[in-house]
Amino acid sequence: MEGITRVKQYLEFVRNETVSVEEYTARAIDESRKINSEHNYFNIITESSSLEQAREIDKKIKANKKVGKLAGLLVSVKDCISVKGVESRAGSRILDNYRPLFDATAVARLRKEDAIIIGKTSQDEFGFGSFNANVGVDFKIPLNPFDRERVTGGSSGGSCGITQKASFAHVSLGESTGGSIVAPAAFCSVYGLCPTYGRVSRYGMMDYGSSLDKIGPITKDLYESALIMEIISGYDANESTTLNVPNEEHSKYLENGNRKIRDMKVGVVKEAFGAGVSEEVRNLVWENITELQNQGVEAEEVSLPLTMQYSIPAYYLLAVSEASTNLAMYCGMRYGKHEKLEGNFNEYFSEVRSRNFGAEAKRRIILGTFARMSGYRDAYYIRAAKVRTLIINEYKRLFKKFDALVTPTMPILPPKFAEIEKLTPLQNYMMDIMTVGPNLAGMPHLNVPAGFENGLPVGMLLVGDHLQEGKLLRLANGIY
Ligand code: GLN
Repeated sequence: MEGITRVKQYLEFVRNETVSVEEYTARAIDESRKINSEHNYFNIITESSSLEQAREIDKKIKANKKVGKLAGLLVSVKDCISVKGVESRAGSRILDNYRPLFDATAVARLRKEDAIIIGKTSQDEFGFGSFNANVGVDFKIPLNPFDRERVTGGSSGGSCGITQKASFAHVSLGESTGGSIVAPAAFCSVYGLCPTYGRVSRYGMMDYGSSLDKIGPITKDLYESALIMEIISGYDANESTTLNVPNEEHSKYLENGNRKIRDMKVGVVKEAFGAGVSEEVRNLVWENITELQNQGVEAEEVSLPLTMQYSIPAYYLLAVSEASTNLAMYCGMRYGKHEKLEGNFNEYFSEVRSRNFGAEAKRRIILGTFARMSGYRDAYYIRAAKVRTLIINEYKRLFKKFDALVTPTMPILPPKFAEIEKLTPLQNYMMDIMTVGPNLAGMPHLNVPAGFENGLPVGMLLVGDHLQEGKLLRLANGIY
């Protein structure tokens, strides 16, 4: 793509008319299509609307009219985030043919700055998975950019795969409930920044677990993540859980003056380097910690005993309970795919849901419904919510002393499909051991590509205190 691969340069070239947005977009769409035929990163590619928008931007620039900060930027969007007029299905057949009448706030804010949405990316159905192998009925599973026999990680697998594979300047919007931004980012070797809960509006997102869901950027470099954060963050009158805090200029944390990180202190979570974590992962993450130390960062071993022991059960109870409530509306009447009306209401909606939800979605609906049943609510949901508070406190205590905590992002290298088929659901859920803690606590976390072992990528996870995304960006930027 004319050698322009990074967003910063591309946006400059667009503004000074060195590059035609229309030509660049056309080539990006061609390349996306080709990549898609081999890797399945898109559920839909929006060629005509992208080109139309690109022409408009070229025209405005030629006429010296004011354009937005992201004029011409190509963005792919996880399927569960609404894009006006574009089929948005959260990777589920139950949402076949659903074309939202409005943009999600994050998308609207990007578009307001003249970004172009090139398509909807593949994901685990409604976000239910860690490998992106739980796609909905009739959807294709995305394949790892470094080895097609392996998983991309999930659930934002399509977003991370295309971000790694595209040769053109591009960013993706991902979404995380319990790790779905950073987990695939680790397996695809890209940056994934999951913001503080409430920093970015969830308006227009198809909910998985409402107290957990976050939208965040997935990018090839840190500047791109910072830039997207600046645009999509901030209070939204349409969404009561957004935080009313001033917007930050995230890219300032990457400026040269901020590159010295000698004043920073990280806690290395001891339980995250123990049994169940592969040696290759441990070694590469430690190499990066050593690099931080070489830059003058103080690193000290810390412990998160409660989080490491109880975050998985607490997370899965809360997440499936909320999911079962959120998914109840897809009954084939007002929401969700309509089928031929037959039988009474119970028969009809059971039929629609049986046919259009995948196996993992059904498992979670059943589990969640059980956990919320009267008589069980106190024993499960409420107790898990209490454990969540203890976990938040455990993190908060450490953040009094440390700027960030470090663990691997995923405990293993990207596995082969043949390997994950043998895992039980519980073994599957254990893959999230590093990521569910920060998600339960609503704390920002960033996947930093940490290197390769036998051609396969490893990710390092930096976790920060609430609203401290800037510290994570600084630390990651300080690793040379
Ligand atoms: N793997 C976790 C789950 O299946 C997290 C996925 C996500 O963040 N959507 O719930």
